[in-house]
Amino acid sequence: MSGNASRALRCAAASALAGIGLSLIGAGVAVAADSYTLPFYDPTVTLSYGVDRDRRLDHQIDWTGQAWNDGDPHYGRVYDQHTGSDFPMALRSEVAAAREGTVVDTEGGFGTTQFGTFGNFVLLAHPDGNRTLYYHLASSADGGIAVSVGDSVPAGEIVGKSGCSGLCFGAHLHFEFLIWNVTGRTWAFVDPIAERRWTTWPGRVPFLASYMRESNPGTEVIKRGQTITHWVEFRNDGGRTWRNTGVGRIALATWDPPAHASPFAASDWTYPWMPTSVDVSGTAPNGIGRFTFGIRAGPPPGSYLERYNLVMLSVHWFDYERIGSFYIPITVNN
Ligand SMILES: [Zn+2]
Repeated sequence: MSGNASRALRCAAASALAGIGLSLIGAGVAVAADSYTLPFYDPTVTLSYGVDRDRRLDHQIDWTGQAWNDGDPHYGRVYDQHTGSDFPMALRSEVAAAREGTVVDTEGGFGTTQFGTFGNFVLLAHPDGNRTLYYHLASSADGGIAVSVGDSVPAGEIVGKSGCSGLCFGAHLHFEFLIWNVTGRTWAFVDPIAERRWTTWPGRVPFLASYMRESNPGTEVIKRGQTITHWVEFRNDGGRTWRNTGVGRIALATWDPPAHASPFAASDWTYPWMPTSVDVSGTAPNGIGRFTFGIRAGPPPGSYLERYNLVMLSVHWFDYERIGSFYIPITVNN
């Protein structure tokens, strides 16, 4: 990564302290356009140390604006001269692109937990001219680097897996937000939390959903060969808008196994493993997305259970702890 000599010092004081944590999952306020989300999928991950907005040694300003005139680490807030936001997470956790972009640099040659001056990372360039850095990743040999220089990655794509390479004292992701400083002709870190650069504030994972209701929460009883219409609604708890075409398309699909061909596929299904996409495009964070589709009673008479899961096509199944999944009991009669 060019132009930032401080990389070697990143996270020298970071540690994976458990317990008290700032929850970054909250009632965020949606803005008009999608910008950035948290760079991971596990909604239980919280911030340990954010950016120090005071560049002076032994002076700190955290993301809330609070100042300290000391060099002590302040858990949930900041430690002195920290250039990014630290998110403790288990080794080899999925790390996601905070926004769509292009891979401009990677390093994967250090061991997953190899302590030293430098560590593994992925660096992305985004359409608005800013860059994001994902640091301390696992080694390439360990699956830590999932992208190559020049790749275009959609928002939410898995770019790598977490590790503790470099100056790291406990597995975590160091996420850094970089803007081009015209005067200094260098990339300069900013605090994405304090500057509210997330789509939602203080920030959400890219894709997350809560089950709300169904057209028929009980058993669908269908005469063999006939088709009924069923709908299900989920709330968009993630940081990205749900669309029904192109990039960001959110679909309802079968799972367990994922993408199995359903014997209940009706003529309106997109694929035998995918009943439909979200009915209305542009379901923003906090919005309710409805998925309407037919269920055709193809199999012989009997009782069945069909399972479904939300998916962002080619990027991510909403499978964290089975979030975004549900099943429909179906009875087929003669
Ligand atoms: Zn850090």
